[in-house]
Amino acid sequence: MNPGDDEDELDETADRCDAMDRALAVHEAGHTVVARALGADVLFVEIDLATGNGKSRSSQFDGSPIKNLAVCVAGCRAEHLLDAHSSRRTKVDDRRLMREILLRFPDAERRLARAEGYRLADATLRANAVYVRKVADGLLARRWISDSATVRIDGVELAALLAFVHSI
Ligand SMILES: [Zn+2]
Repeated sequence: MNPGDDEDELDETADRCDAMDRALAVHEAGHTVVARALGADVLFVEIDLATGNGKSRSSQFDGSPIKNLAVCVAGCRAEHLLDAHSSRRTKVDDRRLMREILLRFPDAERRLARAEGYRLADATLRANAVYVRKVADGLLARRWISDSATVRIDGVELAALLAFVHSI
């Protein structure tokens, strides 16, 4: 083994961890930006680098299940848009919530509702891709100043990052 091999391996591991952190940040940024763009109040966005879990807490849309659906799928769609791929675990809660929302539609409308939710999420993300990146970058930048594995943006900082987010 060459003396450099260990270092290469460490670099590779670090790159892989970086990519996973970024994918998680992009995923949560997607939920956050779409929620805001559709008119929700967004309280905070958070990632836990130790567990790979994240949270984006925002108000729900009463009487607009399509909007709730769009916010729900926005995490995965943001990863797709920005070519980032988080772990399966990140998506478990989203899938459960998506089923819950879809089950409230009559059978005949479910497929259309699902397609409509995806369409709204995709279009909103494309129109606001720059802000998805900003929120994700903001989360990643805080990795090194946070004293725990949890990184959160809220309050005026979050409001500033989302100030120009717009609906389509
Ligand atoms: Zn999610």
